[in-house]
Amino acid sequence: MSLYRPRFESDPLPGLVGQLLGELGEDTAREGLVDTPRRVAESLRFLTEGYTMDPAEIVGDAVFEQDYDDMVVVKDISFFSMCEHHLLPFFGRAHVAYLPRGHVVGLSKLPRIVDIFAHRLQLQERLTRQVADAVQKVLEPAGVGVIMTARHLCMEMRGVEKQDSETVTSCMLGVFRDDARTRAEFMELVRAR
Ligand code: ZN
Repeated sequence: MSLYRPRFESDPLPGLVGQLLGELGEDTAREGLVDTPRRVAESLRFLTEGYTMDPAEIVGDAVFEQDYDDMVVVKDISFFSMCEHHLLPFFGRAHVAYLPRGHVVGLSKLPRIVDIFAHRLQLQERLTRQVADAVQKVLEPAGVGVIMTARHLCMEMRGVEKQDSETVTSCMLGVFRDDARTRAEFMELVRAR
């Protein structure tokens, strides 16, 4: 569901997109482009709606007290984001794990946390850390591990044009950072098919 709402009565974004198309040499009056500024504006608002969302608020009532102290892993969370340098997509999979300390969270909330930060202009490194920090803050677990693998269209479509290369980033907090066995268990669970 798109949460697009014009910020003001007269949203300036479509006009700016139209201007951009004109600068690119396009005839903005031609049929195929007539509605493009509005669509691009909606699309951009949707892809950056994470700025207005607070993970603590969205996870809120899905945090439960629970005496469970084995690792929880949600893997293969697909995500789509936009690089802040070129406004081109990067997309891939996130694997999020934590070791509970008295609290667990509804499993569907971990993908929601990934989305909140993916729907901003991002660097993959920062996205990875923000997801880990948010899980740490909301659940106060013994540790958090996040691994993200992604393809960056700004690398594949332009510049070095390295196709099919994947960028891997990780952020380990608490026991995931300090204890090699916990980290290894996480890696193993991520690799397992
Ligand atoms: Zn880029």
